Amino acid sequence: MQIRNIGEFRLIESIARMAPPAGASVRRGIGDDAAVIQAGPGRDLLITTDAMVESVHFTLDTTTPRLLGRKSLAVNLSDIAAMGGEPGCFVVSLAVPPRVPVGLVRGLYRGMRETAARHGVSLVGGDTVSSPHHLTITVTAVGTVAAGRAVTRSGARPGDLLYVSGTLGDSALGLQMLTRDKQVSRRVFAVRRHLDPTARVELGAELGSRGLASAMIDISDGLTADVRHILQQSRVGATVYCERLPLSASYRKHAGQQKKDCFSPALSGGEDYELLFTVRPEKRAAVERIEARLGVMLTCIGDINASRGRLTVRAAAGGTLKMRSEGFRHF
Ligand code: ADP
Ligand code: MG
Repeated sequence: MQIRNIGEFRLIESIARMAPPAGASVRRGIGDDAAVIQAGPGRDLLITTDAMVESVHFTLDTTTPRLLGRKSLAVNLSDIAAMGGEPGCFVVSLAVPPRVPVGLVRGLYRGMRETAARHGVSLVGGDTVSSPHHLTITVTAVGTVAAGRAVTRSGARPGDLLYVSGTLGDSALGLQMLTRDKQVSRRVFAVRRHLDPTARVELGAELGSRGLASAMIDISDGLTADVRHILQQSRVGATVYCERLPLSASYRKHAGQQKKDCFSPALSGGEDYELLFTVRPEKRAAVERIEARLGVMLTCIGDINASRGRLTVRAAAGGTLKMRSEGFRHF
């Protein structure tokens, strides 16, 4: 049996079954955006890691070292945000081919320094090894959250509202444009969102510390794939309404041209790094006050119901949509 036959998620499941037994301090192990570890009275530790591999996650002819550095850190901060925590520090492992110019590595760290400064996180270590062909950047981020208050994927209940921050599908569209034309301007919003995503760090911490989100995940695989992660772990169902999906002007302009499938990048495109979260109906007003205060758009795109694991996507014209593909597949 090869890995390509089972795919990423079944591979992770089989790894989880082989994991050494978790110690008493592990509140949440494999299966969420970050692990939650009891670290003493008051605060829990959050730990997450994500790798960016040349030719899989990026190619050096469509991005710059600085943007790559920014993104490598942002995708990790996004996982800390998705737990409702505050990031504190990170370590970086570089696997770097000998042909790579020193200036490229300097560019990477310049980018990481910018994102780190913006969110007040510190680079505290790492590892540097050689790699025969591809550059790989692996960031591990550590954060904290009030003890017992981490927002997991498993807290959604029937009747909760489903919210998403920002806009959806821009990153997937931006990637499509870059694939078609490497020279496409980085000033195009969708392209910028692909190369330089924003981690919703303040939003995640705010939703977590105020106890406003019952479940949360960041959108890395794509909206429907990530909604399903919440549904599976919370043992609930959901309806998502296409006409409510928050779309940027750039998205409307570019996806409008592919008429038939114009919702497809928003529904299944990955790497938006927006937060997807559920809210008890009585907390709706409090959530909407955060929107104004932080200046991040928050949109109620659907609701949670009791139909275990089932996701219904309502088309704008009525009826339900059949999802053909869901999210990025590694294998
Ligand atoms: P995310 O998209 O939020 O980064 P992933 O889909 O990459 O999450 O991973 C899902 C869960 O599986 C996470 O809890 C992650 O820590 C865990 N995981 C992924 N790969 C491995 C691995 N090789 N060994 C142990 N745990 C893993
Ligand atoms: Mg995540």
